[in-house]
Order: sequence, then structure tokens, then C-alpha cells
Amino acid sequence: MFKGDDQVKSDATKFHHRLSTELQQLVEAIAQAEASAGTVRLDQSSVGRVSRMDAMQQQAMARGLQERLATRKRKTEAALARIESGTYGRCCECQTELKAERIDADPAAVFCAACAAERETL
Ligand SMILES: [Zn+2]
Repeated sequence: MFKGDDQVKSDATKFHHRLSTELQQLVEAIAQAEASAGTVRLDQSSVGRVSRMDAMQQQAMARGLQERLATRKRKTEAALARIESGTYGRCCECQTELKAERIDADPAAVFCAACAAERETL
């Protein structure tokens, strides 16, 4: 699957494993978050203003968690797709090769430090 013997390709194999593992964990976490969001919805039918507000707050938190997990899942899937297409390890903005420590800290990193900082300040 991974032809060539340069450093990026061998790293890609390693990160493919890390990303696949993370994706699997995310799928499980999303299923769990959905299950707990369902529980919150059931609780919401309970009587009492305070418990209803609690339930709404919990639901908002559960939704926030679900969104974060879904975003992370998309990022992870995109990184896996980049490995498949051979563009992994490069900044999606300026095509600079990402620093090893950056990918190591976040295998799903899309941008180099400079581009990421630039986007955050937008
Ligand atoms: Zn860049």
C-alpha cells in the first residue's frame, strides 16, 4: 500500500496506525455521547423547572461534546485520506513539510505552525 522508502512514507504508516486507532476510539465515543444525549432527553420530561434547566444544560454540553468529537473524526478521516493519496505530512495551505514534532503531537494536523497561527488570528 505504501510504496517508496523515504522517511515520510514510513512515518505515514506509523501515523496511519495511530489515526486508525484514534478513529476507532472516536466512533465509540460518539456512540456513547449519542447514548447519553438520549438519556438527557428522557430526563427532560421529568417535572420541575430546576431539573428541566439542568437537563437542558446537560443536553447543551452533550451536544458540544458530540460536535467536538464529530469535528475530530472528520479531521482524523481527512488525515487518513491524505495518507492514502500521498499528501500526508504537508501543510494544506503552503505545502511546507510539517515538522515531525507537530505531527507527533497531533497526527491529524492540517497546517504548519505558521499557517495555523495565521488562521487562528483571522
Ligand atoms: Zn503552512
